[in-house]
Amino acid sequence: MLPEILFPLYADVTTLKGVGPRMAPLIQKLAGPKVRDLVFYPPSGVVLRRRTTAAEAVEGEIGIFEVTIDRLIPPHRMGAPIKVRAYDGTGFIHLIWFAGSPRHIEGLAPIGSTRLVTGKVEKFNNEVQISHPDHVLPPEKADEIPLAEPTYPATQGLSSRQIRKLCMASVALAPALAEWQDAAWIKQRHWPDWQKALNTVHTPQNEADLSPDAPARARLAYDELLAHQMALARRKLNRQSTPAPVLQDGEASRRLLAALPFKLTNAQARAIEEIRHDLKSGEQMARLLQGDVGSGKTAVAAVVLADAASSGFQSALMAPTEILARQHYEKLGPMLEEAGISSILLTGRDTPAVKRKKAAAIAAGEVQVAIGTHALFQDAVSFHNLALAVIDEQHRFGVRQRQQLQDKGRDGVHLLSMSATPIPRTLELTQYGELDVSRLNEKPPGRTPVTTAVVPLARIGEVAKRLKAAVEAGAQAYWICPLVAESEAIDLAAAEDRAEALRRLLGTEVGLAHGQMPGAAREEVMNRFAANELPVLVATTVVEVGVDVPNASIMVIEHADRFGLAQLHQLRGRVGRGAKASSCILLYGAGEDGGLGETATKRLEILRNSEDGFLIAEEDFRLRGGGDPLGLKQSGFPAYRFADPIRHRHLLLAAADDARLILNRDPKLESPRGQAIQVLESLFDWRTERSSID
Ligand code: ADP
Ligand code: MG
Repeated sequence: MLPEILFPLYADVTTLKGVGPRMAPLIQKLAGPKVRDLVFYPPSGVVLRRRTTAAEAVEGEIGIFEVTIDRLIPPHRMGAPIKVRAYDGTGFIHLIWFAGSPRHIEGLAPIGSTRLVTGKVEKFNNEVQISHPDHVLPPEKADEIPLAEPTYPATQGLSSRQIRKLCMASVALAPALAEWQDAAWIKQRHWPDWQKALNTVHTPQNEADLSPDAPARARLAYDELLAHQMALARRKLNRQSTPAPVLQDGEASRRLLAALPFKLTNAQARAIEEIRHDLKSGEQMARLLQGDVGSGKTAVAAVVLADAASSGFQSALMAPTEILARQHYEKLGPMLEEAGISSILLTGRDTPAVKRKKAAAIAAGEVQVAIGTHALFQDAVSFHNLALAVIDEQHRFGVRQRQQLQDKGRDGVHLLSMSATPIPRTLELTQYGELDVSRLNEKPPGRTPVTTAVVPLARIGEVAKRLKAAVEAGAQAYWICPLVAESEAIDLAAAEDRAEALRRLLGTEVGLAHGQMPGAAREEVMNRFAANELPVLVATTVVEVGVDVPNASIMVIEHADRFGLAQLHQLRGRVGRGAKASSCILLYGAGEDGGLGETATKRLEILRNSEDGFLIAEEDFRLRGGGDPLGLKQSGFPAYRFADPIRHRHLLLAAADDARLILNRDPKLESPRGQAIQVLESLFDWRTERSSID
């Protein structure tokens, strides 16, 4: 329900003076359909005007000159500019119009009159020239020339000045609202109240006022972040009050732990503890388990699957690809069996008859753990009593697919998502704010560190030679070629050429796997590589989510500069899984200047210096900074109006804490501050946005 006090802000922009059917769609495109959207449309620049003289004026500045009009020079032919010469006691100022009527200009600037003229200064010798002056006014109208004028992102048919007027009119409609921020916090930050902040943002006096750290902007950024974090925290609270079966460890869990061929790492033990805490709460769990490739997420999953079985419930483990599902089944099946837990593999590859049989077993409750691909959530599959869904590589699934699996439970189904893409804390808060997160920040023992080298593509011959020696000594290698959507055909051809060249060089068979191949063919190549029948596998990033080949100890990545750091890190995680010393060679394509840009070099260096996925993700995020290079918007990253999750990281963290505290103290938002918060949430409207898990 929209609070009444916000009605004026939620009026259509067409209610503003001067906005008709032609302008409304333009405003909507730029800012949005409501008055509120103009209020929240901050200027992107400011024009500063300065009183000056012909002698003192500086090229490029916007000057205000008080002049006497000296002469009008009409166009000497059709289409030539109209010129006016003026004088201010220190020198000449030439005003130029490339269009317009001489009569009109004569009216503006009659010969002999005194005028204030403003515009961008161009200088020739000691004379000033102004093309298309912003203002030509009699001195008594000096007030009409703003010394600082905000400029707005504009569009064809809607100028910055028109937008400014509309924004001014909109801000005037913004009511005074009860403060939703903590009084002490506001004071400590020297932030203005909401209404004042809006006015200030739309009337910048200098460049500094445009900074994201300027008090008014920072305040609005915090408001926005707080509103979003409130919406996420509330969603989390709702989910947590959805009842779900109580799952506890028992005999089967103990037997499974005993069947594990290793001792759990501290990080694994901690994650299991956190998950168990949720599973026995009686409330629905929604937890994200983050851990690098090789950090041992599968074992964590196995333990909690066993907990479900111990408690008499079914569970499902869903993987994004056939290969992964099969690998899980082959690894987990025997362990589960040792613990007395029956499991089944369900994939799209099964014949209809086999599928039916398996589905019947699941429906009858004869099977306790179902492992599979998205075949698991097909309509034909119904569970006897599904209580837990574990989703591997969760980002590979759509929101809807995850929901479908969860819908298969009668009560709430506990959800454990697993991801090998460590995400920066910032993204965690904005994108997965309603999830609880466990992190595996420690690798199982016995992994050999991977030596990483950053090598220019020009030295590819050398790399190939060393590869040949290694292969002859029994090593296996991945050779990764980039595949970019825009140049897919070219990239594929390049991967094929590379495979062919390596074949000739090595004198052996070389595997080639890419996303355009039929699944079965690709799988066969991968399987042969896994069985050490192929020494080298040339691949596009299909191996990214993938197979465990402990004997592979070399990873070559061509055009490493074209990959994201997190992705490179994941690819590198494919080696260093066995006893052999492993290496990763990042080949970078030289740019036009013969080298890499500074940022690109820094990025690859981060990778060379660290194997900590969380650190790499943070650094990558920071370095990429502005714009949307991570495709965040597409991946559900919220489109903030004032907040910049990188620049305002400290505010984001504070807002997340604040939201949690507020809801803890006042879950129904009934206190005066709680009521103010409700208004804030309506103001920013996050409630209507889709979340990453609903
Ligand atoms: P992830 O799914 O996180 O990428 P996996 O679960 O596949 O990683 O584990 C990677 C490898 O490490 C597997 O071969 C697994 O058997 C092994 N492993 C997992 N946990 C441990 C542990 N605590 N001690 C030793 N090895 C482990
Ligand atoms: Mg895994």
